[in-house]
Amino acid sequence: MKKKIKRLATSLLPVAPNRVGDCNRCGECCKLPYPCPFLRYDAEGLSMCAIYNFRPPSCRKYPRTAEENLTPQVCGFSFVPTSQVVEVGPPETLDPLVPSEQSA
Ligand code: SF4
Repeated sequence: MKKKIKRLATSLLPVAPNRVGDCNRCGECCKLPYPCPFLRYDAEGLSMCAIYNFRPPSCRKYPRTAEENLTPQVCGFSFVPTSQVVEVGPPETLDPLVPSEQSA
């Protein structure tokens, strides 16, 4: 419970830039420390959130940092050493009214 309160408090901070991977919809983070009442499973057994578009930041950003990853054995996200993080600038701004080959 203490870790959940910490995640709630830090959920407005950004996701660590060294996080890699994707959610595999195992649903394990939705059971911390008890199953969420909005947790559902589809016909294939993959987890779903009944309030996905309105889920709180602590769910939206899980796992935000390596220290806050409470399900590293099953989670599709992981964290690489910060020395392996490649800084990427903001995406190029394209004019939506100009075909991409003309806007560069
Ligand atoms: S534990 Fe990780 S992979 Fe599993 S549902 Fe949560 S974010 Fe997705």
